[in-house]
Amino acid sequence: MPIPARHLPEQAFARILRDTVHEVGERFLAAVVDQLAALLQAQTVFVARALDAPPTRVEVLACSRTGWLDTFDLAGSPCELVYGGRSIAIEQGVAERFLLARDSACESFFGFPFFDGEGRCIGHLGLFFKAAGGLSAALAEQLRLLSLRLEAELQRLDTLTQLESAGRKLKFQNRILKMAARHAPLPEVLTQLILGIEAEHPQMLCSIMCPNPDGQSIGVVAAPSLPEAYTALLKRVPVAPGVGSCGSAAHSGQMVIVEDIGSHAYWASFRDIPLSHGLHSCWSQPVKDADGQLLGVFAVYHCQPTVPAASDIALVESLADLSSLVLGHYAILDELRRRATTDDLTGLKNRACFMQMLAAEFQRSQRHERPLSVLMFDLDYFKSINDSHGHAVGDAVLRAVGTACQAQLRSEDLLARIGGEEFAVILPETGLAGALEVGEKLRASVAGLSLPLTGTKLRVSTSVGVATLSGGERNHEELLSQADKALYRAKDGGRNRVCGQQPA
Ligand code: GH3
Ligand code: MG
Ligand code: MG
Repeated sequence: MPIPARHLPEQAFARILRDTVHEVGERFLAAVVDQLAALLQAQTVFVARALDAPPTRVEVLACSRTGWLDTFDLAGSPCELVYGGRSIAIEQGVAERFLLARDSACESFFGFPFFDGEGRCIGHLGLFFKAAGGLSAALAEQLRLLSLRLEAELQRLDTLTQLESAGRKLKFQNRILKMAARHAPLPEVLTQLILGIEAEHPQMLCSIMCPNPDGQSIGVVAAPSLPEAYTALLKRVPVAPGVGSCGSAAHSGQMVIVEDIGSHAYWASFRDIPLSHGLHSCWSQPVKDADGQLLGVFAVYHCQPTVPAASDIALVESLADLSSLVLGHYAILDELRRRATTDDLTGLKNRACFMQMLAAEFQRSQRHERPLSVLMFDLDYFKSINDSHGHAVGDAVLRAVGTACQAQLRSEDLLARIGGEEFAVILPETGLAGALEVGEKLRASVAGLSLPLTGTKLRVSTSVGVATLSGGERNHEELLSQADKALYRAKDGGRNRVCGQQPA
């Protein structure tokens, strides 16, 4: 009998790390500042961490004085000197010299820096005293040693935060890629991608635009948090230089950073539109596939003019990479679908696609009791065209017939090449009389084809069979077979003609 292994669920493990390590770290810092303040009778003792690099602003992680600052600018504070990289002792006149100490009327300040592994100052221990005076050499050394311990704690908390954020990022990426792998609709996947980013970075409003079929413009596919009245205007943004951030990025293939829409030349002609929606900055990153082909444009908007930090640029690049995986996946799916439904020679739909569409139309028409017709046509004496002019000319004739017939049809009709020189058309919402008219138009346009393919004048004609839903058909195949029978009557009747189905 195997001995059962002890097991700790992953979530419980994460909870232990989060609850204990963060809390222990924060409690430790709080205990240190409280005890130091009490023992040294300091006005304020605190531990702070740099919020940016190079540091201009710090976050107060623990403070002996309740209700003191959560964050403050280094400029105007004696703490700024600490970030020069060494301990600072200002023994008198602090309130006079520094804005930050003015309210508390402190006379003296002492600061001890913390460093990261690369020697950058990442935080500090600060002590304010009401009275003027210095530190004994022994106390200064003790505080320096204590700072080393605080530095280690800060690094540990930072590492933990980074690990947690990396874990969250990985989970998020997995969730998005899983949605894509399950072929969830593309706008849904991109919307979840954006909502995930915006949850981590609430000040960012993101959009993803993709190329339109015209190949000249891009349109918004997902932008769940941008005002709808704004995104409604972004359906056809030209891919061209100077067309906002996204049109420019799509054109140049490079990241475009517009920190202030109000003053940037790329937005000069239409800046009132984003500004009226409260959008003041827009950074755009083109999304490309492995061959450098444009798949889309990822954009981050802010509600005030915003200069990206190096970490923002890295974030936008990594989001564009994730978007590229998703968009690339869907581009391949689209191409596979296109190939599975398209006839290579003519570019028309193929037989498999035709049958599928016919089945769907058959059901729809029956359910709603709407008319539906089908045409089948087959080129006359086509074998002789191949025999006398060669297969390549035969192919060109097939393509020309496809193009000519397509031009005769409505956009809701579906023309397919369903066999060698056999074509078929689905005519939704069309009764027998209408279908016979369409059949006649197709016949005439084939017969009227002028084909400059050979030295001699090439004549081509087709015979057309028409069938209309009568209510007696059990399935779409029966309808098609009636069109086929009508086609053969057209052949038997002398070709180059249209025959309707015979009444049941
Ligand atoms: P009918 O008027 O009775 O339809 O005579 P037909 O010669 O058109 O009929 P048949 O079925 O005898 O011949 C069809 C020909 O179509 C045979 C084949 O060589 C040709 N064909 C089928 N597919 C292709 C193709 O992809 N390209 C070319 N060039 N010819 C094709
Ligand atoms: Mg034929
Ligand atoms: Mg045939």
